[in-house]
Amino acid sequence: MTFESLGLAAPLLKAIAEAGYTSPTPIQAQAIPAVLKGGDLLAGAQTGTGKTAGFTLPMLHRLAAGQPVRNARGRPMVRALVLTPTRELAAQVEESVQTYGKHLPLKSMVMFGGVGMQPQVNKLRDGVDILVATPGRLLDHHQQGTLDLSKVEILVLDEADRMLDMGFIHDIKKVLAVLPPKRQNLLFSATFSDDIKNLADRLLNQPALIEV
Ligand code: AMP
Repeated sequence: MTFESLGLAAPLLKAIAEAGYTSPTPIQAQAIPAVLKGGDLLAGAQTGTGKTAGFTLPMLHRLAAGQPVRNARGRPMVRALVLTPTRELAAQVEESVQTYGKHLPLKSMVMFGGVGMQPQVNKLRDGVDILVATPGRLLDHHQQGTLDLSKVEILVLDEADRMLDMGFIHDIKKVLAVLPPKRQNLLFSATFSDDIKNLADRLLNQPALIEV
């Protein structure tokens, strides 16, 4: 199995080669084709399996293949939203987005609480295609009107079980309520409690199922 055979665009293959990856991990081999098809995905995967590239690569491919969405000032609007339970994970995921997307004309940003709002407001004003965020700070920006989520096409919940363990279910529901209804949803979780199954039932539409 090669990354080429998965149908990823040349700028992504270049970044993958530069990262030194020679072949997809099992979760990547399954998740990449599923996400490229455009449908929803429910994936059981632990950290260390390569899950981040498993959703980041096909997400970047689809964003690059689609039309850029710009606001009235000509700035890119958020088309992909990745929610994570912690700042550390948010920072790691955004670093992966930067690494794999470095040959694509897409802008990404990471946003989490515990730091000042204003630098984030400034960065948002410049425009972002891909936003990686923890739920609380994301809602803060949305509520104060500095973040427009009306053009989100792809939603990723990474480590969804940890998000529920940390009590983010209400925040997640609030986020879901302000997203456009027509979008691709990807849910990654290491474990499948009843709460995760309920969330998956509400969120996902005939998802592809992957377990590694
Ligand atoms: P993750 O499970 O997404 O946190 O990834 C775990 C680690 O595996 C990260 O350090 C990645 O850089 C690395 N990695 C991801 N995909 C591959 C691959 N196909 N080949 C080699 N290393 C990889």
